[in-house]
Amino acid sequence: MLLAPGSTPRIRITRQRQIILDELCSVTSHPTADDLYQMVRRKLPRISLGTVYRNLETMAELGMIQKLEVGGTQKRFDGNAATHYHVRCQRCGRVDDLDLGLIAGVEKEAAAKTRFAILRHRLEFTGLCPECQKKL
Ligand code: ZN
Ligand code: MN
Repeated sequence: MLLAPGSTPRIRITRQRQIILDELCSVTSHPTADDLYQMVRRKLPRISLGTVYRNLETMAELGMIQKLEVGGTQKRFDGNAATHYHVRCQRCGRVDDLDLGLIAGVEKEAAAKTRFAILRHRLEFTGLCPECQKKL
């Protein structure tokens, strides 16, 4: 579907954002902004990496998606906004979901020990993925 002439920029941004969101939700690989740019470009050949990046940042701020950040590694994005845990390969950077029950009560405990209003928590395990183990 092409935009009609005279469409407002706001509608164009919303359509781009929807496509970026759809692409992100279609995979479980926790892609980087670069990965998503390559995916989205098939549908929006004229989109820029900057536009993809800005939309991802905004959607993360709005809580529509999650941004997975670890010091020294490229940011990855997750279409699943619900709290869940991850495992990351320290060699190749692969990030998988971890089907592990959420730790009950940890946010309440954290709130009790600080003066923070705790909104959520994150937990990431690190190790070597099956492929990287084979290369040892
Ligand atoms: Zn690996
Ligand atoms: Mn995930």
